[in-house]
Order: sequence, then C-alpha cells, then structure tokens
Amino acid sequence: MASCVLVLLDGLNATTARLCMGFMVALEQAGKIRHTELHCEMPPLSRPLYATLFSGKTPAEHGILHNEDTRLCPSPTIFSRARDAGLVTAAAAWYWVSELCNATPFIPARDRLTHSPSLPIGHGLFYSSDTYPDTELFRDAESLRYSHAPHLLLVHSMGIDTAGHRHGSDSRAYRDAAREADGLLARTLPAWIAAGYTVIVTADHGMNADGSHNDITDNVRLVPLWLTGHEEVHLPTAQTQIAGLVDRLLNLD
Ligand SMILES: [Zn+2]
Repeated sequence: MASCVLVLLDGLNATTARLCMGFMVALEQAGKIRHTELHCEMPPLSRPLYATLFSGKTPAEHGILHNEDTRLCPSPTIFSRARDAGLVTAAAAWYWVSELCNATPFIPARDRLTHSPSLPIGHGLFYSSDTYPDTELFRDAESLRYSHAPHLLLVHSMGIDTAGHRHGSDSRAYRDAAREADGLLARTLPAWIAAGYTVIVTADHGMNADGSHNDITDNVRLVPLWLTGHEEVHLPTAQTQIAGLVDRLLNLD
C-alpha cells in the first residue's frame, strides 16, 4: 500500500536550506532524493499556507487569509481525502493543523493527543509551545508511525521558524535550527525510506533578516522541496501542486 511522509519545516527559506542541510545534499548526490525550489503562495503566513499545502488551493481560493482565522479549512484536505479512502492518517504538528483539519478551537485536554480514526487526522500529537523541541517532535512522529503505521504522516517542526522570529534569518540561531532539522532527518528519513514511505520535505514560507515573513522577497517566498524516489513524477513548480502530489502518491483520485 502506498504511503507518504510529509515533513513541513516551518519557516525554512530556500537559501538556508541550501547552505545548512548537509544530509539532504548528500542524499541528492547519492540520487536518492530530488530537490527544487518554489515560491510560496501569498500571503506568506503560516495558517493560510498550511491550508494551501493540505488543500492545493491558494489562500484567496480556500479563504484562510490570516493567522487568526481559526476555522476548519473550508476545502477538502489531503487528510480528509485519505480518511475517506480508508487510509490511516497521523500528524505530529503545531496545533493550528488540528484546528484546520480536525476540530476548532483547539482544546488541549481533548485534542493534544488525538486517537479518533473518524477524524481527517486520525492519530495526532499536537503541540502549542513554539519552543517545543524538534527532537521531541520527531520522536512524536516516530511514535505515531510505530503505533499506527499510517499511510500518511505529517511531521511539522517549529524550531526553525521560532529561531527566525527571534534572531532573523541572517543569524547563527536560524542556521543552527536548520542544521538541527537536517540532523533529525538524517536520523529518521532512511528508516522511512526503508519502511516503504515516499518522503516530501518542504516549508510553508521562508524568513527574512527582520525576523518576519510577510513580504514578497525571495528570502520569504522561496522555499525548498525534496522528493524521494518516483523519477516518473515531475517535481511541483507551485506550492498548490503539493497536495495533488500527495494524492497521487497515495493513489487518491
Ligand atoms: Zn509558518
């Protein structure tokens, strides 16, 4: 059965991804992963772009246009389509993902640990502190994979975005956060491939030197995208194509 891990490294701009992610470059050089860069949709804000990544629609089309819009995503998502096809879905992710896909508002006592296969994300570990360590987040994701063998697993880390907001993109802290994410991928991605998963790694938006991400510069808009295997598949050239790529990898209509 086809299966996919979608890694969302929040706030990682394409330039820093090129400079600071040696493991990913090694995979590229070994021919095990392909890399491209694409512009995120506008506005380059997290919640609108999560909805874009999950639905395949632009923010103007799906209607989530700012971070305080806490509605469920008005359009079907990769998770709802997978659930409807009878696939097992899981996510270790920032709590806005639970609000967009499962239930809103986020009620920690109810939603932090989610095990409800009738929901679009049937198994979830949702965090709400932006200092939640990426090391723990990757272990959360591996715990979900170990326990539930999901066909679709989202791994959504916040360490890079948090370092960028505090120190700007031209900082040791931001680059170190990217290096740390790269190291975590080095420790987990080979196991995902060995277990038969196709892996997509990307970002919602980038980051600028001011420590923000709401402008039209390439620092903010240009994000990396990697895809393992599937040489027959064209790499996406727009962020709106990523949801369709996941659908195709999972054999969803
Ligand atoms: Zn973000």
